[in-house]
Amino acid sequence: MKEIDLRSDTVTKPTKGMLEAIMNAEVGDDVYKEDPTVNALEEKLARMFGKEEALFFPTGSMANQAAIKLHTQPADQLICDKWAHVYNYEGGGASFNSGVSCKLVDGDRGMITARQVEENINPPDFYHSPLTTLVCLENTTNKGGGACYDFEEIRKIRKVCDEHGLGLHLDGARLVNALVAKKEDPKDYGKIFDTISICLSKGLGTPIGTVLVGDKEIMKNAMRVRKVLGGGMRQVGFMAAAGIYALDNHMERLADDHRRASELGQTLKKQEFIGEVEPVETNIVIFYLKNPKNEAAFMEQLKQQNIRISNMGQGKLRIVTHLDYSEEMHQRFLEVLKNIRL
Ligand SMILES: *Cc1c(COP(=O)(O)O)cnc(C)c1O
Repeated sequence: MKEIDLRSDTVTKPTKGMLEAIMNAEVGDDVYKEDPTVNALEEKLARMFGKEEALFFPTGSMANQAAIKLHTQPADQLICDKWAHVYNYEGGGASFNSGVSCKLVDGDRGMITARQVEENINPPDFYHSPLTTLVCLENTTNKGGGACYDFEEIRKIRKVCDEHGLGLHLDGARLVNALVAKKEDPKDYGKIFDTISICLSKGLGTPIGTVLVGDKEIMKNAMRVRKVLGGGMRQVGFMAAAGIYALDNHMERLADDHRRASELGQTLKKQEFIGEVEPVETNIVIFYLKNPKNEAAFMEQLKQQNIRISNMGQGKLRIVTHLDYSEEMHQRFLEVLKNIRL
């Protein structure tokens, strides 16, 4: 019985086509900016988002951390949701790498409003408080279960940032999922945000890689900051080739991941042992058992069927659909869920 691993969309392995693209990549030393494939990937993403510059990073965390560094000075403060990846899952990097604190906003499934942003800006002439200089949004939200922002709210947040002279960064680890789910234009995001990080290693299915896009002015120190963080790599065109392949071949199919996640959510809702299923907008399903004491038994029954999902603590269980989760696996998982008895 083949394993079905739905803990995260990062568990995927390169497809045959992607491996071929990797094997055939033309490479050079990217620290000298002489890797033609990295340069091509950066140009492709810059063009896609209508930005002047793009830079390839080994991880999403490093791209976000570099963006925070580019936007801030030590002792500044950034505003983000209380569940934000930049605050919760980057090892405290905002304070370590940039010396900035985070003002946490009590958002809705990881999303904050323009009004909340405005309420959390410290008055710039009140020198007792840290100076607010940056707002970080996440789309789709990770801890918020793949929820997508309403683009109108993003526009309003931009307006608040403009009125107060704040930078606006988007942690777009799963932005491609939002673009596909809501049929949005990446150029609209490029117009609004100063910087955007786009992960290639989540739904798009590459082994590693995130690209940070932005305009010339904000990106002028990006190479230096990446070097300081230890992210200057040499013949990394092999990984950039995987990224180009993924953008050309794995983007539209994200709709399949979204449909499967939605079907899993609907099936879960009908089971008497399920308490709540959060709205499923993209490829993440977050749900709770009616009786949290049954969690171990539930996970054990899945394990016996060779199915793995995440237990996020506090009763939160999570399923993430992805490239390596086939229709056949999906049908089997739906049957397993219907037959679980607790
Ligand atoms: C995965 C993820 C990242 C980047 O994580 P890395 O493991 O460092 O690549 C950043 N933000 C969000 C919301 C994520 O889900």
